[in-house]
Amino acid sequence: MKLPETSSAFAMASWEDCHAYFRVLADAPLDRDTLDGWLADWSRLEELIGEAASLALIAYTCDTGDPAKEAAHLRFSTEIIPKAEEQSVGLARRLVGTGVVPEGLETTVARFKAAIDIFREANVPLFAELEELAARYHRITGGMLAEWEGESRPLPLLAPFLQDPDRMVRERAYRATVAPYVAERAALAELFDLMYERRQLVARQADFSDYQTFSFVAKYRFDYTPGDCVRFQDAVESVVVPAYVRALAARRERLGVDYLRPWDIAVNPYRSEVLRPFSDARALARGVHRVLGSVDPALGSQFGIMIDEGLLDLESRKGKAPGGYCDTLHVRGRPFIFMNASGVLDDLVTLLHESGHAFHAFAAHALPLVWQRHPGAEAAELASMSMELLSADHLGPPAGMLDPRDAAVARLEHLEDALANLVHVASVDAFQSWIYTSGEGGDAPARDAAWLRIRARFEQGLDWSGLTEERIARWYRQLHIFLYPFYYIEYGIAQLGALQVWRNQRRDGAPALAAYRHFLSLGAVEPLPELYRAAGAALIFDPNSMRPLVDLVEEEMERLREIVDG
Ligand SMILES: [Zn+2]
Repeated sequence: MKLPETSSAFAMASWEDCHAYFRVLADAPLDRDTLDGWLADWSRLEELIGEAASLALIAYTCDTGDPAKEAAHLRFSTEIIPKAEEQSVGLARRLVGTGVVPEGLETTVARFKAAIDIFREANVPLFAELEELAARYHRITGGMLAEWEGESRPLPLLAPFLQDPDRMVRERAYRATVAPYVAERAALAELFDLMYERRQLVARQADFSDYQTFSFVAKYRFDYTPGDCVRFQDAVESVVVPAYVRALAARRERLGVDYLRPWDIAVNPYRSEVLRPFSDARALARGVHRVLGSVDPALGSQFGIMIDEGLLDLESRKGKAPGGYCDTLHVRGRPFIFMNASGVLDDLVTLLHESGHAFHAFAAHALPLVWQRHPGAEAAELASMSMELLSADHLGPPAGMLDPRDAAVARLEHLEDALANLVHVASVDAFQSWIYTSGEGGDAPARDAAWLRIRARFEQGLDWSGLTEERIARWYRQLHIFLYPFYYIEYGIAQLGALQVWRNQRRDGAPALAAYRHFLSLGAVEPLPELYRAAGAALIFDPNSMRPLVDLVEEEMERLREIVDG
């Protein structure tokens, strides 16, 4: 098959242009002798179309006001990519049908087989309906406005006020942010009912008892079970919850308040004003370049390539889409980082996180076939969350962007967030499991009551009195529960993996970093436990493995508090 050299040939492509190539692959004779060439062509086609789609996404999200860029992005995201995926499933059937598992494609073939096993024609229209319902969630929540100082404002604009040193400002910002979700509770509950029914039907039509067991196969969770997730929840309850309560007690003391309220979590208790570590996006990129270079010169020079080749779009500006991501240009073998920096500490952490994804893309590009490069979220987030912790030691002098005290403040915040993250992950995972297995997940009041029960179990140390409606509204704000069901435990698994990589680095830096980079280079060619082992970590679901990591976090926080207090 004659394929174009670069993805620019596909920039203006219609579906028919792409389809012609898929047809050639669908009709080509396939046996042991032709398999390698056929796979190389198919992979190259996926790279070319994928890169063209990524470039269209990047162009649009960097400049949402340009109708031509919007049209190009929509052509790829709503037409070409879904149809290409359909074609790819057909080609995957051909590969599996040969009975050959090519070397280096063992995990890919396992994924293809799982997808084929659970595919049911009858579920296709249900997935389309679920897409429509997801769009409805975006419409309801995306249009939400908060009343703020006499004006209606989009909710993200209130985020800085949630960190305000003035407690009254924080409380007003918190109440204004949550109020639209409290007001839309009935509409969102009704929407979730529709999603719940369809998801359970999808599972039954694929011969599963419930959507949880279906999801474990659909998400290729071959290496852990729903029972492991229950063990994870129990372990977090017994090990992490008490540690987080201690961190909150220290926070309460610092803030000089009797009880911590939900609006006391985002403020930095160690500084009288908001920490602003850089002046603009250029300074952020240069600072992170220095930090990463002192972690590892090779990673530093990869980040330098991103600066030189214009692969970063960091600053918040008018006309840019919200949020942040790291995308991969598969033909060029280059990542692209998009974010909306506004000058706060979170931006620095976000860029270090996305850099971890970028280094994963650089390293995995050496693997010849596109499917070998992208592991699931458990491993992808291990790459990014580890990078946050690996660079923590380098935020201060000589290379970093912060003075020694602010570097300690930043690391304290980061470690407290790690504990908060684990507690939140456990409660979201327990709640999703309850929804799809209790038999009561389609009952809106029972759902809210279950959420309150689960939150009371995990989220301790905060005073929620008089705020029951607001506490219930928290799950309606967690878009994963609506849009990406069961996607959440991955963050917890990866957080514990990243803490192990960090522990190894503290014991002996060079081999820990070498292991991390070896893990990056494996892409998706090994099963999940092997990828973690390569990084020097294990999948952790039990309290005995969690405890030493949480102890380490608490000891480090204690040491950092001493630095902060000088
Ligand atoms: Zn990430």
